[in-house]
Amino acid sequence: MTSQRTRERLLGRLMDQGISSMEVLDVIRSTPRHIFLDEALAHRAYEDVALPIGHNQTISQPYIVARMTEAMVTSGPMDSVLEIGTGCGYQTAIIAQLAKKVYTIERIKPLLDRAKKNLKTLRLRNIEYKHDDGSLGWEQKAPFDAIITTAAPQQIPNELLQQLNPEGGRLVIPVGGDDRQELKLVTRNDDEFSETLLDAVRFVPLLMGQLQH
Ligand code: SAH
Repeated sequence: MTSQRTRERLLGRLMDQGISSMEVLDVIRSTPRHIFLDEALAHRAYEDVALPIGHNQTISQPYIVARMTEAMVTSGPMDSVLEIGTGCGYQTAIIAQLAKKVYTIERIKPLLDRAKKNLKTLRLRNIEYKHDDGSLGWEQKAPFDAIITTAAPQQIPNELLQQLNPEGGRLVIPVGGDDRQELKLVTRNDDEFSETLLDAVRFVPLLMGQLQH
C-alpha cells in the first residue's frame, strides 16, 4: 500500500475514534511520521501504534498525539507552548505547526539531537530546545498558554501548574503509575485549577533528576 493511502487510512481511524478538529487532522495528514523512525520501522509509521525509538523510549501513538493536541488547541490560545519529553520530535512537529512558539525539553541527549535534526528537515524553526530534566518546567520562559508532558509523573508537579498562564493556561498530562495512567487536562484560572479526565493511557515514566548524555 502506498504511503499516501496508509496515511489517509490513519486519518480515517483518528476520526472514527472521535478526533474532530480539522486543524489537528490537517497537520497530522501533512506531517511525515516515517522520518522520525528508524529505517527498519519506517514502513509501520502510519499504523496507529506507539513504536520504539531507542533508549527504552517510544514515539507516541498517533491517536494519543491527536487527542493531546486537540485538547490544547480547542481550549485556548497557543502562543507559547512547553513540551516535556521531546523524544523523536514527532509531537513537537505537530505542535510547532499549531503554536507560535514551542519550548521543548528532553533528558536524553541523543534523542534530543535526533529530534533537532528531524525538525530541521521539516523546516520548523519556531522551536527552542533544552537538554534537561523537564519535571520542573522552564521557569525563565514561563508563563505558558499550554504545557504538554509526554511522559507520566506519579503526581502533577506543582512547578508546572505555577508556570501556566493564570488566565486560562492548560496542562495536558498523563498521571499515575507504570502500567496505567489517566490523561488529564488541567485549566488554570488565577489560583484555581480545574481538571478534566480525557482518557486512560500508558506512557513511559517522567523521570526526575539525572540526565542522560
Ligand atoms: N513525544 C515523544 C514521546 C517520547 S517518550 C515522541 O512522540 O517521540 C517520552 C520522552 O520523555 C522520552 O524521550 C523520555 O526520555 C522523556 N522524559 C522522561 N522524563 C523526562 C524529564 N524529566 N524531562 C525531560 N524529558 C523526559
